[in-house]
Amino acid sequence: MTAITEINEKRIQAEDYVQAVFETVKKRNPNESEFHQVVKEVFDSLVPVFEKNPVYMEQSILERIAEPERVITFRVPWVDDQGKVQVNRGFRVQFNSAIGPYKGGLRFHPSVNASIIKFLGFEQIFKNALTGLPIGGGKGGADFDPKGKSDGEIMRFTQSFMLELSRHIGPDVDVPAGDIGVGAREIGYLFGQYKRIRGCYEAGVLTGKGIGYGGSLTRTEATGYGTVYFVQEMLKEIGLSLKGSTVVVSGSGNVSTYAIEKAAQLGAKVVACSDSDGYIYDPNGISLDTVKKLKEVERERIRDYVKEHPHAEYFEGCSGIWSIPCDIALPCATQNEIDEAAAEILVANGVKAIGEGANMPCTSGAINEFLRNTVLFGPAKAANAGGVAVSALEMAQNSSRISWTFEEVDEKLQQIMTNIYRSSVKAAEDYGYPGNLVAGANIAGFIKVADAMIAQGVI
Ligand code: GLU
Repeated sequence: MTAITEINEKRIQAEDYVQAVFETVKKRNPNESEFHQVVKEVFDSLVPVFEKNPVYMEQSILERIAEPERVITFRVPWVDDQGKVQVNRGFRVQFNSAIGPYKGGLRFHPSVNASIIKFLGFEQIFKNALTGLPIGGGKGGADFDPKGKSDGEIMRFTQSFMLELSRHIGPDVDVPAGDIGVGAREIGYLFGQYKRIRGCYEAGVLTGKGIGYGGSLTRTEATGYGTVYFVQEMLKEIGLSLKGSTVVVSGSGNVSTYAIEKAAQLGAKVVACSDSDGYIYDPNGISLDTVKKLKEVERERIRDYVKEHPHAEYFEGCSGIWSIPCDIALPCATQNEIDEAAAEILVANGVKAIGEGANMPCTSGAINEFLRNTVLFGPAKAANAGGVAVSALEMAQNSSRISWTFEEVDEKLQQIMTNIYRSSVKAAEDYGYPGNLVAGANIAGFIKVADAMIAQGVI
């Protein structure tokens, strides 16, 4: 056999392996399109890894990594303000504990189902590995819609949710945090209920806690800031910076708010943001004070922004935000919010960089469009890893019963984002995908987890 034929055979063997395992995943998890989407994206980029290291195939690492260690679903009954009993479905997917306790947020949103939680949990395995910190992958949530609920309803729901979840978590077992629909208020209620059930103060059981009771400074800002730090690294490589650039950020929740804040601090003009009803365009640059007041204090809709800023415009519907010309786009709202058509418009308008602040905000068609046109692309599991990284720093502070300053944590966050960028670039180069951070992040995260799994035997 010639050397070339041997290389081709190895490649074909790796491709066949990846394809076969993907078929099994689809069969075993029918109708879970978001889960299939994320698994396919990761699997496809791993072909050269199996080609070079057949031991991962021999050890059936893909089969194992795509099967959660544990999936928990449970009933969440609660009583609404009218006295009516409501029932929601709760989830916790404990996906992989090879490098640390399961770690990942909780999402409260009506769209939550097994597919959504599994896609998020699967992403989390690699994202958490990329941070360089000892955290495994998990995710949870409920198909509960917090929109329009009173504070009392939120508390009763959250307490009922924790009553069941508490059996499955712990500071060295599984450490949930926030995600869409779960912010400081919900984490507070979850923590209070956990403490009451367990009868002890296990601060490290949840992250994203208030600063007065075990939370870490910079955790609130971390995901948004981290996404911008990551984009800054990408821009630096081609001699650009955020200074003077025009930025569009979707969403107006925790990730977007602090992405807007950091981008503005670094000299960018952020001209648009959105919520699930529509988006605002402010050519003067968004007033973050107004957005924070509307979203963090009044819990109102983004359309009310134009009441205070009449020169700004409000548009109903979300997808139109991507037709605003910009240098940098930061999708920070939700999954699949940029499809191929939106990506084509962004490219036609000259976008230079994309930073995924949300989880899987770009469809695979959109990602290909960006890569084809050499738009800098920071994939979610790398670009938005700052949130969970600071969560791990919160756990470290809880274990040692000390608190670091804002500056200390922010400095560590910047270093972590730079390291993630560098390790993704290096893995992409090492495995034949120069400049492709999607592949680089997948590979760097995968190798770390796969090696730990092999070292720990068949479990
Ligand atoms: N939900 C966030 C994420 O998608 C944060 C998770 C955490 O802090 O555990 O990474």
